Amino acid sequence: MGAGPTIDDRDVLLVVDVQTDFCPGGALPVAEGDAVVPVVTRLAERFRHVVLTQDWHPPDHRSFASVHAGRAPFEAVTFDYGPQVLWPDHCVQDTPGAAFHPGLVIPHAALVLRKGFRRDIDSYSAFFENDRRTPTGLGGYLRERGFDRVVVVGLAFDFCVRWSAEDGRAAGFDVVVVEEGCRGIDLDGSVAATRDALVSQGVRLIDTW
Ligand SMILES: [Zn+2]
Repeated sequence: MGAGPTIDDRDVLLVVDVQTDFCPGGALPVAEGDAVVPVVTRLAERFRHVVLTQDWHPPDHRSFASVHAGRAPFEAVTFDYGPQVLWPDHCVQDTPGAAFHPGLVIPHAALVLRKGFRRDIDSYSAFFENDRRTPTGLGGYLRERGFDRVVVVGLAFDFCVRWSAEDGRAAGFDVVVVEEGCRGIDLDGSVAATRDALVSQGVRLIDTW
């Protein structure tokens, strides 16, 4: 049996962006990103309800450094909606890099939520785009389905997992992040900052479930 609390019908596993481009060899690799694949696959077998998110950008997406003259990947900039990191081109719609990692096997996942598909705005969170106002619809879906606890794993811990966990909590769900199922990018200490922020917002961080 796992180390975490009992899983019941009001729990949903939210698997964030376990895609080829975020794994070693991909366009925006997270160190050891592929290490989460077997962990997440095994964890998902124990959840009846699973939602997958998929980063899904048009080729000229505004978060790509390549569309800003003189800018380099990983530069921090400010857009009209707030802070943004410029990324290498990644997870372009319908390309191999945007596919889920081939080792991720979760046939019973009920919803694949694509995000980042609007050219002018990025979407780290599964709940809101980066203006933190434009909803993806996930909050309504989870509420209508009667879930009250969201268990988050995936990539990257300090960006899309963090923002998803924070927004899930703000939307009134109990949120648990399982760190064994996450890996971070760690720009300027962002992994440690993420742990502090999540705990201060009432998100439960556990090593394993
Ligand atoms: Zn992206």
